[in-house]
Amino acid sequence: MTLRRAREPLQLVDVSKPQPKKGEVLIRIEACAVCRTDLHIVDGELAKPKLPLIPGHQIAGVIDSSGERVGVPWLGWTDESCHYCTTGRENLCDNARFTGYTIDGGYAEYCVADARYCHPLPDGYAFDEAAPLLCGGLIGFRALRMTGDARRIGFYGFGSSAQMIAQVAAAEGREVYAFTRDGDKDAQEFAMRMRASWAGGSSNAPPDKLDAAIIFAPVGSLVVTALRNIVKGGVVVCAGIHMSDIPSFPYELLWEERSIRSVANLTRRDGEEFFAIARKTKIATQRTNFALERANEALGALRAGEFVGTAVITP
Ligand SMILES: [Zn+2]
Ligand SMILES: [Zn+2]
Repeated sequence: MTLRRAREPLQLVDVSKPQPKKGEVLIRIEACAVCRTDLHIVDGELAKPKLPLIPGHQIAGVIDSSGERVGVPWLGWTDESCHYCTTGRENLCDNARFTGYTIDGGYAEYCVADARYCHPLPDGYAFDEAAPLLCGGLIGFRALRMTGDARRIGFYGFGSSAQMIAQVAAAEGREVYAFTRDGDKDAQEFAMRMRASWAGGSSNAPPDKLDAAIIFAPVGSLVVTALRNIVKGGVVVCAGIHMSDIPSFPYELLWEERSIRSVANLTRRDGEEFFAIARKTKIATQRTNFALERANEALGALRAGEFVGTAVITP
């Protein structure tokens, strides 16, 4: 499924099987989970995608030559030599390349990937169970780490990433307060099933002040809402790649050492740490599967908020 131009539907086209170059592997794709970032790319909210592009960066499949089960995440390549790469921050590499954005991704039957950036999939996960871990899980985990030792964490937006990270947080003895669209009872019940301690609408004040908040929804005003609800010294972590403008707000909301920060991309080390957790504790996901040729429907359903959990495309 190929994007020719931003803001146009993907087109089902026949392309030849990609040929791996040195250091790359050919992967037979078994599942590719849909991320909100895919929507931002298709909707033209992220600049300069490769065009035409095969989107998708939560790929679970099998290496054609060895039969090994692997996952391909968003971070597809770095130069390993810039200031960021040499200081343990390859997620910020000046020359990074990204799967399903500047490299063809997983809305397809096959892809090629740099072997150094693939992750062995944990046992005990079917391909469609493993695929959502590759971005929603991984980048959500990086965002969770940025809340430090916060005990009570607000999640604003409870979709693919939040459903997984709520379980990781609960396993670490933290409490997750889930904020959904006001009145979205389905999403609130879903959050409680996925081990949230409390769920309500985003305009509700939580029953107790939050130590930290993670903003999963691409809605800038939620940053201000979250700031109002966190304790002194608390952090608001923005987990998405794109967000509507953050409205201006009185300085007193930031005062007392509150902070706002973003999470960008991931490192291979994040992957190692996160998959170690996923091996120990099975991370459950609610999923809606779509056949490859129905990728536009999957994107439309995500845009409209028509399902809870994660959409997964299966060739
Ligand atoms: Zn670099
Ligand atoms: Zn993603």
